[in-house]
Amino acid sequence: MSVNKKDYTNLSPCPFCGKTESVHIIAASEDDSFDDINENSYAVVCDASRGSGKDLGGCGGQSGFKKTKDDAVALWDVFFNSKEGK
Ligand SMILES: [Zn+2]
Repeated sequence: MSVNKKDYTNLSPCPFCGKTESVHIIAASEDDSFDDINENSYAVVCDASRGSGKDLGGCGGQSGFKKTKDDAVALWDVFFNSKEGK
């Protein structure tokens, strides 16, 4: 399986609750509740309204907004890895 092509569907599980299907990337421009944040920002979130089966409903955790998806994913992985290391 090639991983050369960048995709954002294989994110690390939530470092806070461990769920996977609820984890996805949001753009600040897509959500009016983030209107105080630069609209060209992205964050990885554990969305309470997403998921299915045992993964239904995330905890609402988020990486914090970054200027690029790559940075948001990187920050999410920092959280995940720091949790794993303890
Ligand atoms: Zn979570």
